[in-house]
Amino acid sequence: SAPLISIEDARLHYKVGGALSALRGNPPVVKAVDGVTFTIRRGESVGLLGESGCGKTSMGRLLLKLEEATGGAIRFDGEKIADLRGQALKRYRSRAQFIFQNPFDAINPRFTIRQTLSEPLENAGVPSAEREARIVSVLELVRLPEPRQYLDRYPHQLSGGQLQRVVMARALILEPDFVVADEPVSMLDVSVRAGVLNVFRDVRDRLGLTAIYISHDLALVRYVCERTIVMYLGKVMEDGPTEDIVHEPLHPYTKALVAAVPVPDPNQSHDALPIGRGAPDPRNPPSGCVFRDRCPHAFDRCGREVPELRQTGTRQVACHLFEGAD
Ligand code: SF4
Repeated sequence: SAPLISIEDARLHYKVGGALSALRGNPPVVKAVDGVTFTIRRGESVGLLGESGCGKTSMGRLLLKLEEATGGAIRFDGEKIADLRGQALKRYRSRAQFIFQNPFDAINPRFTIRQTLSEPLENAGVPSAEREARIVSVLELVRLPEPRQYLDRYPHQLSGGQLQRVVMARALILEPDFVVADEPVSMLDVSVRAGVLNVFRDVRDRLGLTAIYISHDLALVRYVCERTIVMYLGKVMEDGPTEDIVHEPLHPYTKALVAAVPVPDPNQSHDALPIGRGAPDPRNPPSGCVFRDRCPHAFDRCGREVPELRQTGTRQVACHLFEGAD
């Protein structure tokens, strides 16, 4: 069947450096997303994995049209999202939702939980008489026990885990087809993470949602996603079934990520990466393969040519070592 989402050569390039370098006429350009191509089937769960600055959050924001791509095309259900206007855009905004990392990005601290959850219903034209029942049922869905007791509380009266469930409830209340969750448990205490992740997995399966889960942590991605896309400096390095990537990573960058997580466990947090220095300055990435200056296998060609993403067995890999392997 046709994919629900197709991304073709998506780019998000922007100039940085402030007024002075703009006056000089040569502001540096950051390629936050640089030629990303992949498709997502309906009902699929895909992890976007990488260190901070790899472009995974920018990619999520492009998908939800929170930011406009500077090149390429993103299609949702066959329609280019860049062309959506008016009612069509409004419909897209209810079908595709973002679950924020920081609950306070999604929730106004001065609104009660009832107000927070009423707002999207009101915007979507749901009659006021029906709203309370919808709110209670979505809070039950995210497993907040006895939901009515929370309706008139303010965000600061809830624990972190309860609040992240409210954020999820807000994203789900309009019954979307597609959600992008950006590190949704990274601000939570380790002891409540697994509970929130279980709710996320359970709700996704019950509603048949298509989901993207953004994280720097392979253990968490493994816990929630059947497929993983590894990004580095705005590009896809490897894309394939999560278990294959965990058991036999192919790209040298993925190998380093996997080596950083000896025992994948959602109750532990892991910081990438064991390879020496941090990622290079995104304003000035290496020529050829962007991973070159951290790669233990780099050879001449890596500095001259950008490796293309190619099918290699069950996945796609962007590395000169795997060219012609399949
Ligand atoms: Fe390393 Fe070269 Fe492969 Fe890049 S293309 S990951 S530098 S071997």
